[in-house]
Amino acid sequence: MALQGDVREHVAVLGQLDAVAVAVRRPMDLEGIDALVVPGGESTTISMLLHSSGLLPEVEKLVADGLPMLGTCAGMILLASKILDGRPDQVCLQAIELVVRRNAFGRQVESFESELSVVGLEGGPMHAVFIRAPVVEEAGPDVEVLASVALGRGAGDDSLRPVVCRQGRVIVAAFHPELAGDGRLHKMLLDQVELEGD
Ligand code: GLN
Repeated sequence: MALQGDVREHVAVLGQLDAVAVAVRRPMDLEGIDALVVPGGESTTISMLLHSSGLLPEVEKLVADGLPMLGTCAGMILLASKILDGRPDQVCLQAIELVVRRNAFGRQVESFESELSVVGLEGGPMHAVFIRAPVVEEAGPDVEVLASVALGRGAGDDSLRPVVCRQGRVIVAAFHPELAGDGRLHKMLLDQVELEGD
């Protein structure tokens, strides 16, 4: 989804995996796609552009059809089932059963980096870049939590919060694997496409 955000970085990672990336800006760009990546950026801006581009009803159909999707940071917010601290009119695609709170890792530490071990990923920890990232407040019973970090960070709450989740064909990360050039979650997405093709 190339409306706003770090589209170029996602395209680069997909290219490294030999996937053909199509920049989706208009409904016609969705024709023939096998999966959709929703990038990081600003979820309220992407929401407005989803309306003005005419993409929203089409993307809602793809969610209902169970198209494989990957959302990172703002993309995770857009794919969630409920958004806290969002704009009341912002788009919530309800592709994965998560309640997320925007910008909730703490005002003083709005950005941080972490080495995460992610369930199911080989090749060592993932270097995770969190930029004004959303916090998962609740995850539905069918959501698999693949990685978590402590909310804490000086806020006096050390509870572990999910930062990589998956429900069926939808994968989300609260951080930006694409900024670190790590394609392993994108590969997980492409594996869903291949499973479908079998
Ligand atoms: N805070 C942003 C939002 O609410 C997300 C930030 C990001 O994608 N790095 O959309």
